[in-house]
Amino acid sequence: MIRGARPGYAPAVAVHGIDLGTTNSAIARVGKDGRPEVLAGLSGAATTPSVVLFAGPQEYVVGEGARREARLDPEHVCALVKRRMGDAEWRFVAHGTAWSAPAVSSLILKSLVADAGFATGEEPTAAVITVPAYFGDEERRATVLAGTYANLDVVEVLSEPIAAALSYGFGRLDGGPDLSKTSETVLVYDLGGGTFDATVIELADRRISVLAVEGDHQLGGADWDERIALHLSRRFCADNPDAEDPLDDSAGSQALVLAAERAKLQLSDAERTEVVVTHDGARATVPLSRDELEEMTAPLLRRTLDLTRSCLDEAARRGVAQVDRVLLVGGSSRMPAVAELLRRELHLDPQLHDPELAVARGAAIYGEKTELERMVT
Ligand code: ADP
Ligand code: MG
Repeated sequence: MIRGARPGYAPAVAVHGIDLGTTNSAIARVGKDGRPEVLAGLSGAATTPSVVLFAGPQEYVVGEGARREARLDPEHVCALVKRRMGDAEWRFVAHGTAWSAPAVSSLILKSLVADAGFATGEEPTAAVITVPAYFGDEERRATVLAGTYANLDVVEVLSEPIAAALSYGFGRLDGGPDLSKTSETVLVYDLGGGTFDATVIELADRRISVLAVEGDHQLGGADWDERIALHLSRRFCADNPDAEDPLDDSAGSQALVLAAERAKLQLSDAERTEVVVTHDGARATVPLSRDELEEMTAPLLRRTLDLTRSCLDEAARRGVAQVDRVLLVGGSSRMPAVAELLRRELHLDPQLHDPELAVARGAAIYGEKTELERMVT
């Protein structure tokens, strides 16, 4: 590697890839073996919840600790800030300070930077940050600003579906030999915690472009959790008619929604599970099967199908008769019902591989490419 200010060469800086997600964020970089690796902090978790707890005037907690407080202390916990990016008026006020969306986001970025520093011994100074394909100029500018506030040189703002596709090997932008020959279309189905996006992208003439985008930015895994929590509360109340409904209380509903999410995760692997709900001195054990979960959330999944269909229709209008590959992205695409639905209804054969890390890894691959280019300028 070339280091220092030699004439004609920019100093080599490791450009990291950052998935600044609505629900979870992650940071990655291409390692010495040429593969993108996700960098975890002290907690060992590959992703960090995109949640900030303003514990005191100068004190904030980012990640899991903040997420657990979300419903208990809503006045001091900021979640889903990504939905506010590009809204210049919006502020989160805590302990007398008003925080803009880029300012809140910069705290999440700083936490990722610290994690990467912990993992590699060197804090990143440059990054590619990903954004949804539908983000416009304002939202992209706000994302760059968040990076700047976190002392990062944002070398590129990259669309998430493109990043995801890169990590699935699409296009081989890392300098593979077959780029010139390749022409490929890909459908990216991204079901995260709070958003759903379907995108068709195309690689042609050495360029990757977005051909069609559809989505619902208020639809994601959290809606599955709410639906399960409602079911749990009904069962709890039926068993304990004299006890308070856990959903009527902030601590009760926080515990119930977290329990609902845990059950959902288990049911991606197992056919059935049991949830113990304790509240107001009472208790109920609620058995839950994957079939029941799928039945009560079927309308949510159906909506992703409708949006995927209209995305494919839009791509068809732009000349894409069929897609070559289908990639599943976002933690919620781990639910077996997702791939089953796409197979059954659209006769597609989706690929699923580390769906919550694909975007960060792809951003790292892209970052390394820009890094190589910048070395010889
Ligand atoms: P985002 O892109 O919105 O920041 P992620 O891609 O990290 O979020 O997805 C987070 C969502 O994925 C959460 O709702 C979480 O419950 C869900 N999720 C993660 N793992 C699983 C799993 N194994 N089964 C079902 N849902 C999952
Ligand atoms: Mg995401």
